[in-house]
Amino acid sequence: MDMSELNARIEACRACGLCRNRTRAVPGEGCLEHPLVLCIGEGPGEQEDLTGRPFVGPAGQLLDRMLASVGLSREQVFIANVVKCRPPGNRAPEPDEVRACLPFLREQTRLLRPRILFCLGATAGRAIIDPAFRVTRQRGLWVERKGFYLMGTYHPSALLRDRSGQYKREAYEDLKALRRKIDELSASTQGGG
Ligand code: SF4
Repeated sequence: MDMSELNARIEACRACGLCRNRTRAVPGEGCLEHPLVLCIGEGPGEQEDLTGRPFVGPAGQLLDRMLASVGLSREQVFIANVVKCRPPGNRAPEPDEVRACLPFLREQTRLLRPRILFCLGATAGRAIIDPAFRVTRQRGLWVERKGFYLMGTYHPSALLRDRSGQYKREAYEDLKALRRKIDELSASTQGGG
């Protein structure tokens, strides 16, 4: 199966109740040629549901600025979500919805072959890194598993609500760590191993 066939399956999927209220499913987008980084959010919001594109609302604009702060663009990474259809009222997806949808993210990972899974928020952290993942405790920590480097940080939506600025400062530290890992992996690739 290639990415366009996978996208068609996602768009036709009725494996969980989130299909009932969606306008459009949101498979994901970005670099299709083995991007080093797969950014994983929670699920589509209102703008994403209307457009079929990930992270295009205010949180998405912040994500673009976050990536740009360490010299990355959304064309260099791939951006996807744990669930591909919008949970009503932007609630967090239920465990059974996550379970139903995760095979799509696994297939995206298999096709894209990224080295880094960068988890945005607790839902992605719990689905990918640790079922008990807590952003405030485990953000910024690298986990190496099956050839992937996994790290979680705040979801951009949480940063939009952060009045103290503390989460933003911590997220910037995580982004700098992401940049260092990209540079390290790029250097080892160029150096032949
Ligand atoms: Fe299918 Fe995922 Fe949408 Fe549920 S959220 S209907 S599993 S694509």
